[in-house]
Amino acid sequence: MNKSEIVKELPTPCYVIDEDALKRNLTILHSVEEQTGCHILLAQKAFSSYCTYPLIAQYLSGTTASGLFEARLAHEEMGNRQVHVFSPAYKDDEFDELVQICDHMVFNSFSQWEHFRKRIPHGCKTEFGLRINPEYSEIETDIYNPCFANSRLGITLAQFKEAELDGISGLHFHTMCEQGAETLERTLRAVEEKFGKYLYRMKWLNFGGGHHITRPDYNIPKLIELIHYMQEKYHLTIYLEPGEAVAIDAGFLVCSVLDITKNGMNLAIVDTSAACHMPDVLEMPYRPFIIGSREAGKLPYTYRLGGSTCLAGDVIGDYSFEQPLHIGDKLVFTDMAMYSIVKNNTFNGMPLPSIYLLCADGSTRLIRQFGYEDFKSRL
Ligand SMILES: *Cc1c(COP(=O)(O)O)cnc(C)c1O
Repeated sequence: MNKSEIVKELPTPCYVIDEDALKRNLTILHSVEEQTGCHILLAQKAFSSYCTYPLIAQYLSGTTASGLFEARLAHEEMGNRQVHVFSPAYKDDEFDELVQICDHMVFNSFSQWEHFRKRIPHGCKTEFGLRINPEYSEIETDIYNPCFANSRLGITLAQFKEAELDGISGLHFHTMCEQGAETLERTLRAVEEKFGKYLYRMKWLNFGGGHHITRPDYNIPKLIELIHYMQEKYHLTIYLEPGEAVAIDAGFLVCSVLDITKNGMNLAIVDTSAACHMPDVLEMPYRPFIIGSREAGKLPYTYRLGGSTCLAGDVIGDYSFEQPLHIGDKLVFTDMAMYSIVKNNTFNGMPLPSIYLLCADGSTRLIRQFGYEDFKSRL
C-alpha cells in the first residue's frame, strides 16, 4: 500500500505525521550542520509534536522556543539538546525558569535586556543575545514581515546602544519566510552593513528561520558558502532555526466527505475545517493540495470543499477529481505537519483531529485522541 492508501484506513479527522518524510528533511539539515559546523534548531512554533523529538535529536542541535511553554516542552522532551528562546517580551515570573532551562535567551529590546540583566543569577550558564532588525526583508505580506514600518520585532540600528553590550554574546535576526539562500545573501549584506562592526565582538549569530532548505530547488551550496563566510570573517558560531524546513511535506490531514450539495456548483462538506484544523489556509492564505485532485475544471468533477463550521468563509478551495465524490469518501491533504497541529482550535466545538504517526516501516501508531473534555476544559 502507498502512504495515501495507508492513511485512508484511519478514522477521520486525523493528522498523520510522516516519519519517513521527516527523516528526509532532517538528513538534509544534518548534512548542512556537518559541512559547516553550524547549529540547526527546530523552531517549535511550526511543529512541536514531541513524539518525534527523540528522532529530531538524532539529527539537529536542538530547538528554539517562542516563550516559556515551548522552552519547557523542549527541556522535558529533548533535554539532551540545546534550548534557545526568543520572545518579544518576557514576564518577570518567567525569567528564573527560563534561565535554568535555556542555553540562549534572546531579547527583543535594550529595555528588556536592561530590566533582566540585573536578575541574572550568579553562575548562570545561559548566554544572552539581542534580536536586531536589519530593516531589510523580501517578504511581501506584512503579517509575515518583521521589517515592515514600525515593526516591534528587533532593534534597529538607530536604537542600538553599544554601551549596553556587556554580557551580550550574540545577535539574532529573523527576517525571512519560505525563502532561498539568495535572499539570505542579500539579507546578510544588510546585516553586515548596519551591524558588522558589532559582530566582531560577538560569539554567535543566529540567522533565524524562514530558510526553505529542504525544498528541492534550494541552493544548499550557496547557504554553506554564506555560513563559512560569516564564520571566517567574524569568528562566529552560526545558528539557524527553521520551522518549515524541518517539517515541510511531512504530514497529512485526512478527512471524510459528510455531505454533497449544490449551489451554482457542486459543494462538498467535510469533517474538517479550514478555520479550525488548518487555519493558515485562511490566514496565509494558501490552497492545500489533496492527493488525486487537480485545480477546478481540470478533471471531470469539480467541488468546492467546505468545513463543517458555521463560518461562511470556512472554504478550503475548489478541487476537481477523476470520479464523482461520494459521502464517506476520504480525502488526504498533504503538507499538514507544520503550522497546523500547533495552530488548531475548537471554534464551533469542532472536535480536534487525532494525531497518528506513520512509521518508517509503514505501520501507523495513534499518538493522541481528543474528545469533549478537551473542548470543555479550555472554556
Ligand atoms: C517563525 C520563526 C522561526 C521559524 O520560521 P520558519 O518560517 O518556520 O522557518 C524562527 N525564528 C523565529 C524568531 C521565528 O519567529
